[in-house]
Amino acid sequence: MIRNFHKVFPNHYHLPERINRLGELAYNLWWVWNPIGLRIYLQLDRRLWEKVNHNPIAFLHQIDEAKLAAASRDKYFLEEYDHVMAEFDAYMGNENTWFARQYPDLKNRQIAYFSFEFGLHESMPFYAGGLGILAGDHLKEASDLGLPITGMGFIYKQGYFVQKITEDGWQETSNYHFDFEEMPIIAIVDDKEKPLTVSVKLPDRTVHARVWMLQVGRVSLYLLDSNVPQNSVNDRQLTSRLYSSDLEIRISQEMLLGMGGVRALRKLGYKPDLWHMNEGHSAFLTLENVRELIDEGMTFEEAAQKLRKSNIFTTHTPVPAGNDQFPIWLIDKYFPSYWEEMKLTRDQFVELGKQTQPWGDTFSMPVLALHLSERCNAVSELHGEVARKMWNFLWPEREARDVPIQYITNGVHMGFWLARRMRLLFDRYLGMDWMEHMDDPDLWTRVEQIPDLELWDVRRHLKRKLINYAIENARENWQSTKHSASQVIAEGVMLDQYSLTIGFARRFATYKRADLFFSDYDRLLRLINDQDRPLQIILAGKAHPADEPGKLLIQKVYRVAKDARSGGRIVFLEDYDLNIARLLVQGVDVWMNTPRRPNEASGTSGMKAAINGTLNFSVLDGWWREGFNGSNGWAIGNDEDYDDPNKQDEVDAASLYNTLENEIIPLYYQTRSMGDASPQWIAKIKENMRSLSWQFNTRRMVKEYLHKMYLPAFKE
Ligand SMILES: *Cc1c(COP(=O)(O)O)cnc(C)c1O
Repeated sequence: MIRNFHKVFPNHYHLPERINRLGELAYNLWWVWNPIGLRIYLQLDRRLWEKVNHNPIAFLHQIDEAKLAAASRDKYFLEEYDHVMAEFDAYMGNENTWFARQYPDLKNRQIAYFSFEFGLHESMPFYAGGLGILAGDHLKEASDLGLPITGMGFIYKQGYFVQKITEDGWQETSNYHFDFEEMPIIAIVDDKEKPLTVSVKLPDRTVHARVWMLQVGRVSLYLLDSNVPQNSVNDRQLTSRLYSSDLEIRISQEMLLGMGGVRALRKLGYKPDLWHMNEGHSAFLTLENVRELIDEGMTFEEAAQKLRKSNIFTTHTPVPAGNDQFPIWLIDKYFPSYWEEMKLTRDQFVELGKQTQPWGDTFSMPVLALHLSERCNAVSELHGEVARKMWNFLWPEREARDVPIQYITNGVHMGFWLARRMRLLFDRYLGMDWMEHMDDPDLWTRVEQIPDLELWDVRRHLKRKLINYAIENARENWQSTKHSASQVIAEGVMLDQYSLTIGFARRFATYKRADLFFSDYDRLLRLINDQDRPLQIILAGKAHPADEPGKLLIQKVYRVAKDARSGGRIVFLEDYDLNIARLLVQGVDVWMNTPRRPNEASGTSGMKAAINGTLNFSVLDGWWREGFNGSNGWAIGNDEDYDDPNKQDEVDAASLYNTLENEIIPLYYQTRSMGDASPQWIAKIKENMRSLSWQFNTRRMVKEYLHKMYLPAFKE
C-alpha cells in the first residue's frame, strides 16, 4: 500500500544476535496486551523495567549489556523468547482472522479512525481520559479481530501533564519532554529519505506536519507532529499538548488533524471507504473530503450527500459545555478560503456547524459531524436518550426519540485490562480458547467451576500488588526527604491488605463528585475506623490544569487523607495514569463511581474492575445502568433523574452510606469458613463476572460497530 514511502526502522541496538528481535518487538504494541510479551523484558531487569515506566525502548537503551549477554545464553530464557516470537509471528502472519473468515469479500475495504487522543500504554501518555483509552482499546480490538482499520491522531511532544500534589494538597503540573528516539514510533519518509509531511493553510501561513507511525498489532496508527523546521517557532509547538484552552491553538490543531489527517492518508496511498470520528475534534475531515469531490466536479450538495453515507460519528459528551465549539469570529478568520473552495457562501458554511447559545451563535464540531454523518452513536443506552434530546434542535420536525443517534455501549480490551493471573485462571477453568469466545454469555457460566479459594488467592495477590506499589512509592518519597510524614501517610504507608478496600479514580471534574463520599465525614470516620471491620479507600485522578473547582476537590480529598483521624486509611495516589489505573481496578475490592447522573456518558473504569472480579458500587448512570442486575454489585441512588442537584446529592449520599454500612461491609466480613474469604462475597464476584464480562468488553463493542455502523455503510 505504501508505495513511494517506506518506514525507517531504527536499528541502533547492540543486541546479541540470538535475541535481537527484542528490538523489533518493542516497535509493535502487541506486547502491551500479551503478558508473555511484556514479561520477556521485565524478567531481564525488573527494577529498570519499573524505572523506565515499562517502555521497552528506553529499557533496551539502558540495560546492562552483561544482562543481555547472559540472557542470550540462558536456555530457559531462550525457550521463552522463542515462544514469544513464535506467538508474535503467528499473530502478525495470521491471514485467517475473524474478520477474514466472516467477511472475505470485504478484505480490501478500509476504515479510517480519527481521534484527538489515543491511550495505548502508560509509556505514551497521549491521552487525557476515557475517550482516549477507548480509542486505544478500539484499535487493539480491531487488530485482534482483523478489521481493516487505520488510526489517525497526534503525537504530543509533552503529552498530558505530570501531576504533583503539594503538602497542602494543591495540584501542580509539569510537562513531559519526550525523546522520540525512545518512543516506539516509526518515521515515515519519502523516496528521498525526507520525512513525509502534509500541510494545512491557516489565515496567514501554512503549517506543516510530519507523519509517524505506531504499530498496534496489525493496525497502523499514524500520528501527526508539527515540530518540523519548515514551521515557525510557535507552530512547532502546535502539537505539543492536548486540550489547550487557547481557542486559536485548538482550531489550528483541529484543522491539522482533520484536513492534514486526510491528506496524510492520501499520500500514504489509502483510500478509506469509511471515516469514523471519535468525538467532534476531527470533524474538519469532512470538509477536506467534500473539497476533493468538488474538485472532481460535484456540487456541494452532491458531495455532502455522498460523504454522509461514509461518515460515522461517535459522541461522548452529555455535558453541553463539554462540547467543542468555536466563536464565529474564529471561523471568519480561519475559513474564508475554504468556503470559497467548497463553493459555499460564508453563511452556508457557518450553518454547517451553527449552534445557537444563550450568548450567541457558535460553530460546534459535533454539529458539523452530525450534519455530515448518516450514522451517529452515543456510548450507552442512557447517553443515547440524553444525546437525542441534546441534539434534537438539529431535527426540529422530529420527536426526540426519532433523532437519528443510536447507541453502542463502550467496552474495555480484555487482553490489556485483565490481570495476568486472572487470565491464567480463566485459561484453566474456562478453556484454553476462552478468549476466542469472550463475548459469548454461555462461556461465562463456567466461572462457577473456578474453586473459590483459587479465585480468592488471585484477588488477594492483586490487592497486595496494589498496596505494595503504594507503599514503595511512598517510601521513595520519604527517602527523598521532600515529603513530610503526613504526606507519606496520605500516600498509603498504612494500608493493610486484610481491610475492605474501595477504589475511586477518575478525572476530577466536578460532576464526578469525588467528595460525595466525604459528605458526612463523622459517619465515614466511624465506618473507616471500625476495629473489627475496617475500611480503606484509595483515590487518584487529575484535574484539567485550568479547572480550579476540580483542583479544589483534589485538595479537599488530600486534606482528608492527611487528617490523623482517618488513620492513614484514606489514600491519594499521585499522577493517575494507565499503570495506576490497572493496579487499582485489579487490586481493590470495590470500585466506586459517583457521577451526577446523567453526566457520565458511559464510564469504562468500572468495566475494567468488573472483568477482574472487583465489584462495582455506582450511580445508575452510563454503563452501570445497563450492567447492574440487582445482585452483581450495588447501586447508589435510584434509577431516576432530578431537577435539583442538591436534592440529588442528598439522596445519593444517603444511599451510599446506607448501602456501605448495611450491605457491603457486612458481606465482606461475613463469617469466614475459609480463612479471610467470605463465600458470599466470592459468589458475588462470580455473579459479577458471569453477567458483565461477556458484555462490556471491546470484542462485543467493535463487533457492534461493525454490524450497526460499518457494514451498513459499506453496503451503500
Ligand atoms: C479507564 C480510564 C479512564 C476513564 O475512566 P472513567 O470510568 O470514564 O472515569 C480515565 N483515565 C484512565 C487512566 C483510565 O485508565
